[in-house]
Amino acid sequence: MANYKILENDIKLCRKCHLRDTCNQVVPGDGNPETEIMFIGEAPGAEEDKQGIPFVGAAGKFLNQMLRTINLKREDIFIANVLKCRPPANRDPLPEEVAACWPWLLEQIQTIKPKLIVLLGRHAMERFLPNQKISQIHGTALRREIDGIGKQVFYALYHPAAALYQGSLRETLLKDFKRIPKVVEAIEKSGEIANVQKVKAEPENRFEEKIKQEKLF
Ligand code: SF4
Repeated sequence: MANYKILENDIKLCRKCHLRDTCNQVVPGDGNPETEIMFIGEAPGAEEDKQGIPFVGAAGKFLNQMLRTINLKREDIFIANVLKCRPPANRDPLPEEVAACWPWLLEQIQTIKPKLIVLLGRHAMERFLPNQKISQIHGTALRREIDGIGKQVFYALYHPAAALYQGSLRETLLKDFKRIPKVVEAIEKSGEIANVQKVKAEPENRFEEKIKQEKLF
């Protein structure tokens, strides 16, 4: 916990890219840094920028509701974004912004050491599971080895904001979300698995063509 507080303070002081010139504040993350489950989204929106906390708007409320369906609260998990500062008018992040901010996310993962990383939406998914389609891999637990992190299980979900008002996506997201405890259980049972391809933990990897990863179930 103490280590995470030091890291959080460093992130709050960051001015490595120009996004800090237009946002109100840096939004490092929220929740329990000693959790087994870390959620990663893309970037803060207007409300997050105002409050300094990720996922506090409508999508955040939906996320809280879904957490309750698996008997978890925000305080039980940790949630962060790929970018810690809000892009103007919520535009998509630029590659140089992702590259500048990426070391913070890596350091958060190294400090928290989650058993499971849940990727919220296709933008977050692309950073760790490049060249995949969220429509094909949502609700699938994949283990990959990533430089700087090691073997890590990822579980991609549709973004709560995208699913909030779309009936079929919403149903799918709710169904996938309810499997999270089973995924954690499977990770605990599966132990170490050899022959997992190493990939470099850099944002450009999302353009890599030949990616192998291991499907847990
Ligand atoms: S977006 Fe990331 S790298 Fe850029 S200033 Fe904010 S914390 Fe620093």
